[in-house]
Amino acid sequence: MLENLFIANWKMNKTVKESVEFLEIFIPLVHNIKDREIGIAPTFVCIESVGKILKNTNIKLCAQNAFYETKGAYTGEISPVMLKDLNVEYVIIGHSERRKYFHETDEIINLKLKACMGEKLKVIFCIGETIQERESNKTFDVLKSQIEKGLKDIKTPDTLVLAYEPVWAIGTGIVASEAQIEEAHLFIKEKLKKMYYEKADNIRILYGGSVSPENINSIMKIKNVNGVLVGGASLDPEKFSKIVKYETQG
Ligand code: PEP
Repeated sequence: MLENLFIANWKMNKTVKESVEFLEIFIPLVHNIKDREIGIAPTFVCIESVGKILKNTNIKLCAQNAFYETKGAYTGEISPVMLKDLNVEYVIIGHSERRKYFHETDEIINLKLKACMGEKLKVIFCIGETIQERESNKTFDVLKSQIEKGLKDIKTPDTLVLAYEPVWAIGTGIVASEAQIEEAHLFIKEKLKKMYYEKADNIRILYGGSVSPENINSIMKIKNVNGVLVGGASLDPEKFSKIVKYETQG
C-alpha cells in the first residue's frame, strides 16, 4: 500500500514570522497522524527556520524549486546539494507557474529532475494541461509529451512522485470533476507502467487544483489518487489540517 502524501505549496507567501505562526498552530493539529505523509514547501528564505521547527515532527520539509547545477555562477539559484544539506526531502519540479512565468521548458524540467534525483531528493514532478489544450482535446497528448520529455533518460524512478495539476484548476476554485481526475490519473499510471514496468506501482500520483476541506473526501476516493498538492488552502493551518485529516473528519 502506498502511503498517501499531502503537500502544502506555499508559493510566494509568508514571512519567517508568519511561517512560524502557522507551524505553532498546525503541528499540534496533525502530530498524531502516522498513516500518511505530510510535507510543507515554504519559500527559500523561510526554509531553514521552517526546517528547524519541523525536525523531529511528522512533517517533511519540501522545496518549491531547484536549479540543475551543483554550484557556480548562477545568480539567484539554489542547488539540490544545498537543499539536501538543509534536510529537504521533497522538491516540487515543473509547477505550471514555473513553466508559465519563468519559461521552464520540458528540457529544463528534465535537467532539474535528474539533478534532484541524483542527490536522492524525492521529486514531485508536476504536469497538466491548460484550458485551451483541454478544449481542443489535447489533454492526453500534452500529458504524454510532458511525461516523456520530463522523464527522458531517467531509468530509476525510485524517488519520483507525479502531480496531475490541470492548469485551469490551479487557484481558480474550479476543481476537475471526478471523471476528469480518474481518467487523467489512469492515463498517467498506464504511461508510467509502459516506461517503468512494475516499478511504476511505487510511483504516487497526486492531484492538485483548488483542493479544499470541502472536496478532499471525494478526491481521495478516486482510483489512483495517492494524495494532493495544495496551494491556497494550505496557507491556513486549520484548513490544511482538515485536508490532511480528511477521512477522520467525518
Ligand atoms: C498548486 O499551486 O499546486 C495548487 C494546486 O494551487 P491551489 O490549491 O491554490 O489550486
